[in-house]
Formats: sequence, structure tokens, C-alpha cells
Amino acid sequence: MPPVFRFAPSPNGHLHLGHAFSALLNFDLAVQAGGRFLLRIEDIDTTRCRPEFESAIYEDLAWLGIAWEEPARRQSDHLTAYREALDRLAAQGLVYPSFESRAEIARLVAEREANGRWPRDPDGAPLYPGSARLLSSDERAKLLRSDTPYALRLDMAAACARVGDLGWIEHGEGPDGATGTVAARPQAWGDVILARKETPTSYHLSVVVDDALQGVTEVVRGQDLFWSTSLHRLLQRLLELPQPVYRHHRLLLDDSGRKLSKSTAATGLRELRAGGKTPADIRRLVGLM
Ligand code: GLU
Repeated sequence: MPPVFRFAPSPNGHLHLGHAFSALLNFDLAVQAGGRFLLRIEDIDTTRCRPEFESAIYEDLAWLGIAWEEPARRQSDHLTAYREALDRLAAQGLVYPSFESRAEIARLVAEREANGRWPRDPDGAPLYPGSARLLSSDERAKLLRSDTPYALRLDMAAACARVGDLGWIEHGEGPDGATGTVAARPQAWGDVILARKETPTSYHLSVVVDDALQGVTEVVRGQDLFWSTSLHRLLQRLLELPQPVYRHHRLLLDDSGRKLSKSTAATGLRELRAGGKTPADIRRLVGLM
């Protein structure tokens, strides 16, 4: 079976050099390995994703000389698949609703921090400080019937107890140089959000479901997602999904040393193209000749 690679951008802005590097690296590796290359549009965040950004992704990737198997998979077309995965986790007793607003969560964290540092997840966000897991079934049912918004969280302690030790094969390297067989540390994420009342999924849940449904065998993506892999391995094990190998690549940084996050005149593919740069220039700029 040929290896299967994918590039999975979110259409919440225009592509920049960081995306070009990731897409070209994925595509080159697929070609070198005689593998398949898929494109997935990660558009579950309807407040930030826009159809014009999606069209621009197709245009920019084609300009770079990248060819993907048609059709691209659009996550918003597959909400049922994510809902089914969520239901499977819920059936294992691993999901519970929490009802605190963002402001309440911030207040709880501040309260905890009065007694010392409250733990943060690998992205720097405080772990869930609430106790919704302990609500009685009556209280929970009452809140679910009310208009209160809620998040559906993974009971991390129960999930970890179920699966035991986990790891993954890393062909790239983590921010701290970790490579080879890496031990997963999903506990670092706490009771992570898997879905919300109005959105039946989250990045972590949909990426795991899609990688499996698309038969992805090699996940090549930025180092900023290195520790997300801990959580992805946990969800894969709980959902009995196959385990891809991972290659986390270096990130392109801006002049102040931060990860590129917005397309600007200096980094946006559209702007660079309008300024006369060629696809070969882009390859040179990202260090992929
Ligand atoms: N959609 C994610 C992003 O644009 C990438 C997800 C992944 O490669 O797993 O950062």
C-alpha cells in the first residue's frame, strides 16, 4: 500500500510562506515515496472560515505546482462522522458536559492561582478548573434542558486509565528535539473540549477521525502541533483507529522570532506572486529546493 500524506489548512485567511513550506514538504515526500497526496479543508470554525479563503487555497496550491486527489475533503461536510465518534466516546462514559462561561473559567483559574501556579496545557491555556464532572445526573439533565451553552469534555483521568501507556513514531522532531519513539502525555491537556453545544466537534476530534477515514499514514505538520499528537494518539486508541507516523517540521518565523500567523506583504503567497515571485522563488524562500 502506498503511503498517504495530507495537507490540512484552515480557510480562515490567505496562505503564507509557512503554509507553502508545509504543503510543499508534504507533496515532495509523497512524490518521493510514490505515495498519495490529499488535501483537507479544516473549516469547522464557521465564525472564522470563509469560502473565498477556500477558493484562494486551491488557487495558491495549484500555482505552487501541487496536485492533490480530487475532491478535497471539507470538514463541514462530515459533521455526522465526528458526531458518531463523539457518541462512541460518550458510550464509554468518557464525555461530560461543562457549563461554565469563559468568564467563570477565568475566575476559577484566578482563584486557583491565588494558591500557586495552576497548570497550563501545551498551548499555554489553563487546564479546565471546574468540577462539572461531579454534577449529579439530575443537575446535569436540568442544565442540558435549559438554554445554558455547554462544552463536551473528555474525562482525561478515566480515558488514560482505560488505555495505559501510549506513544508514537516521530520522523521529525519536537520543540525540545524529541524524535524516534515519543511517549505521549495526554494528561498535559486536562479535560479537553471535544465539542460544544453548537459545534459537534473540535480540531482534535475531527483531525483524528479524518486521518483515519482518509487512510492517512504519514502526518507531516508544524512543530506547534507536536504535543497535540499526545491527545490524537489517545483518541485514536479509544476509537480503535490506526496509528499514522508523524513528522513535525520546523516553523517559519517572522522577524521578531514568532511563528508566521498572518499573510502579510512579506509572507503572503498572493502578495509575493503579485510582486513577481515564481513558484521556484517560493521554494527557495522556504528552503526547499
Ligand atoms: N488545520 C490545522 C492548521 O491549519 C492543521 C492540522 C494538522 O495538520 O493536523 O494549523
